[in-house]
Amino acid sequence: MENKILLYNGSFKRFGNQPYNWLGITNGIITDAGYSDTYSRCIDEYTEKEDLGGQLVLPGFYDCHAHFVQTATKYISLDLNGCKDYTDIKNKIEDWIIKNPKTSIIRAFGLEVSDLEEGSYPTRKILDGFTRDYSIWINSRDFHCSMLNTRAIHELKVPLTMEGMEYYDNGTPSGRIYGKVNALTRKKIIQSYTSSERYKSIVELSQKIIKKGVTRIHVMEGGFEFYENDAEDMNTYKDKLPVDIKLFYSTIDFDKVEEMELDFIGGDVYLDGSFTSKSAAITDNYQGLDTNGELYFTQEEIKEFILKSYEKNLNTTMHAVGERALECLICAHEYAASKYPLSRLRHRVEHAELSSDSQIDRASKLGLIFSMQPAYEYMYGGPGRMYESRLGQRYKNTNQFRKLIDKGIIICGGSDSDLTPIDPLLGIHSAVNHPVAENAVSVEEAVKFFTLNAAFSVKEESKKGSIEIGKTADLVILDKDIFEIDPETIISAKVAATIKNGFILYRNF
Ligand SMILES: [Zn+2]
Repeated sequence: MENKILLYNGSFKRFGNQPYNWLGITNGIITDAGYSDTYSRCIDEYTEKEDLGGQLVLPGFYDCHAHFVQTATKYISLDLNGCKDYTDIKNKIEDWIIKNPKTSIIRAFGLEVSDLEEGSYPTRKILDGFTRDYSIWINSRDFHCSMLNTRAIHELKVPLTMEGMEYYDNGTPSGRIYGKVNALTRKKIIQSYTSSERYKSIVELSQKIIKKGVTRIHVMEGGFEFYENDAEDMNTYKDKLPVDIKLFYSTIDFDKVEEMELDFIGGDVYLDGSFTSKSAAITDNYQGLDTNGELYFTQEEIKEFILKSYEKNLNTTMHAVGERALECLICAHEYAASKYPLSRLRHRVEHAELSSDSQIDRASKLGLIFSMQPAYEYMYGGPGRMYESRLGQRYKNTNQFRKLIDKGIIICGGSDSDLTPIDPLLGIHSAVNHPVAENAVSVEEAVKFFTLNAAFSVKEESKKGSIEIGKTADLVILDKDIFEIDPETIISAKVAATIKNGFILYRNF
């Protein structure tokens, strides 16, 4: 039986066209639309009718880059986001022990060094001072550093000589670990959650993000610091969840991707690290330091990987934060494109937080899509914040949305959750209110990052990403018209309803 819904008295935003005032939806597809009250001619066709009270309606939001399982496990772990000093951490740990008396290991996430008054992550001795009766494992918000107390080092059998181990002057472990040993330890921790715990947390997260207007999410699973089974699990769970999941498996193994029948290879494969941990590969040294970050692959390896992806007709996504990583990736694409000039693939660069003018021109020529996280600027941008502490005056060149768009680059938007929350309105607010005014974009451009451009980045713009007849009825209704209000207050707008395939999954009006 046909399910016909009429949504009327709304302002349905369209890119470059007059907004519709009503939509007719048949079996999840937009089949009719018009202006003012012209729906009255066909009102009897609809079984359900919904008066939207004049509210703004946007296409359903995408989040193009989220570590979904990682974010979900936060519901079964201790969340250290917002800790301002070691005392905060200690209090939260003590609280957790009281609430979870059967805990044998405390698994904590979200600690951000630039929030800490002490200016560095706690060491083993500090953590031993909190408790020796329980193992403590803390992961930094950017995942690149873990901190352990003595008990955890023993219980997790952390290999003391592996790359990434930090030591005190006397040669004993400081409890802070990076690189390979961090990746190995993180995997052990993630594996320690039972599958029912994991599934429960994934469902909980799906329900939460629907309230943020998200109807489609690109999840980055598996890979260097993550648990391989996360990718398999998401592949199994994805059809049971209320949001549309697109899985990106962070691997460079073509066989695995083909086996899972994915049309992208890569995901969040690290060409370099992050700014927070000073491991993003940049051109000039970090402010006040003798290092310019790390590249985790050689140019040859990247070239070979990208060439093979062109050969196999597979889109790629690769994590490149600094210009040195981006350079490597652009060179690889230039080489592959010279061999396959007719390739019509849509390749993405994840993050691309720093780029030079010539790189922007070359990336534009190659049609590379930049998958970026505007909320980084909200969290790290502007004078006196993390970008400046790492890059000095170069903080003015991070996330240059304006210039990228003007040079023809398509930007799609994400959160890099758990780094910033899955909340496209926060992303839109951050892109419009970029702390460096020259890098800011218009509200419409920012909305496109999380809708039409996001759909384009995965070749589904003919079905999703905008409100047009023939497209899927994935919609988000806002309680404020973000095109009309003071741009600095976009952040105060709330999702009033989320509609997926024509069904209202969440409503608050
Ligand atoms: Zn990444």
